Amino acid sequence: MSDQPTRVYENDEIRVFWYADRCQHAKKCVGGSWKAFDLSRRPWIDVNAIPAKELAEIIDRCPSGALRYEWKEQKEGTV
Ligand code: SF4
Repeated sequence: MSDQPTRVYENDEIRVFWYADRCQHAKKCVGGSWKAFDLSRRPWIDVNAIPAKELAEIIDRCPSGALRYEWKEQKEGTV
């Protein structure tokens, strides 16, 4: 099993890691935002389509760990 992400998508705020072989196709991501996650598009994740905070909330719902993220700078005081 590889710890290397299949793809990395990022903007100034957030870095999103995609591990294709872990995806269970539960589509929590697509259901969370079709603007940010569109499996028929390449690249299929658009990190600029919605606010980074919303993106992170959707990624938190991914059941498989196929999507992960890190903030590029500390976001203190935000919930
Ligand atoms: S929510 Fe996670 S497991 Fe489901 S389709 Fe998206 S990346 Fe794959």
